[in-house]
Amino acid sequence: MQGLSSAVRREPPVSPADAEIAPAVLAWYDRRRRSLPWRAPPGARPDPYVVWLSEIMLQQTRVEAVKPYFETFLRRWPDVAALAAAPIEAVMRQWAGLGYYSRARSLHACARAIVAEHGGSFPASEAALRALPGIGRYTAAAIAAIAFGQKAAAVDGNVERILARLDVLEVPLPAAKPLLAQKAARLVPDARPGDFAQAMMDLGATICTPQRPACGICPLRAFCGAAAQVRPEAWPRKPPRAERPHRRGAAFVLRRGDAVLLRTRPSQGLLGGMTEFPSTFGTDSYDPLTALHAAPLVADYRRLPQSVAHVFTHFSLSLDVFVADVESEAPAGCRWVRDSDLETEALPSLMRKVAVAVRSSGW
Ligand code: SF4
Repeated sequence: MQGLSSAVRREPPVSPADAEIAPAVLAWYDRRRRSLPWRAPPGARPDPYVVWLSEIMLQQTRVEAVKPYFETFLRRWPDVAALAAAPIEAVMRQWAGLGYYSRARSLHACARAIVAEHGGSFPASEAALRALPGIGRYTAAAIAAIAFGQKAAAVDGNVERILARLDVLEVPLPAAKPLLAQKAARLVPDARPGDFAQAMMDLGATICTPQRPACGICPLRAFCGAAAQVRPEAWPRKPPRAERPHRRGAAFVLRRGDAVLLRTRPSQGLLGGMTEFPSTFGTDSYDPLTALHAAPLVADYRRLPQSVAHVFTHFSLSLDVFVADVESEAPAGCRWVRDSDLETEALPSLMRKVAVAVRSSGW
């Protein structure tokens, strides 16, 4: 029985072309690796905390947008114990503007779990990493490979794109994901798996880009089916994209002297735990004629001539902005915050746009 189970578990044979991919990518990486603030110098051992923090921030977010946040977080909370000891409100405030705010809550929960359950040290195995809050399959593999040198395949959209092009895979995403994951697992080398993961990230970000890949200078050109096609960017194949629905809503900006009315959104759901001008959005039922029914206070409102536009992953939004001066106490769940203290609040990008629209209206 033992012989049978080990036969079943044996990895599929690596084809000669597959075996040449990691050496080609690593040789290219040694010459062209990007210098990034979270990346350890060649040969140095990366700090798991740094790898984890950067990987969480980089989910769905551009490198250039992440850099200042990463540096501020690391300065303020230089290790996982410091982050775990921070109040969640401080973490949310520091995250404001980076988007996908559930990441900030999971980041904090994960830091606390590492301190409480792992004595303040990151576990090295993919399975143990995946059991932590906010760490999915890709992030666990990236941390295991980069920080601990484990032979783990970190497969994100960049890697899927490269691999689908290499094999000119006609199966569209997302159905192709299992095939691409198998291919990725076959390619990870025994030596330098962390460098291989980072090399593939760099290749996807700088050479095998979504549009106009630079096949002429790509280290994988000799192994790539798409490079010989007129439009290599036609891979990975994708099903037709569904229209993103458009929704409307309202934000109420109330002023009392030099203070504005704010509230904290519920911890779950869209922009969970972030600060907002009292708002109503996200449903299909908005009617501008009855918008004032949802206002937090009765007041003599004026509507700004321009609405504020924003795009979320699953819908686009235009937000009507109503402004009014009042003398009232803050209603339940709201608070008055001095205009000069607005920067210290966990205002997401949408609410920052509302603040800019109000300021530029001259109100
Ligand atoms: S040859 Fe072109 S399509 Fe193929 S992996 Fe390189 S950049 Fe991508």
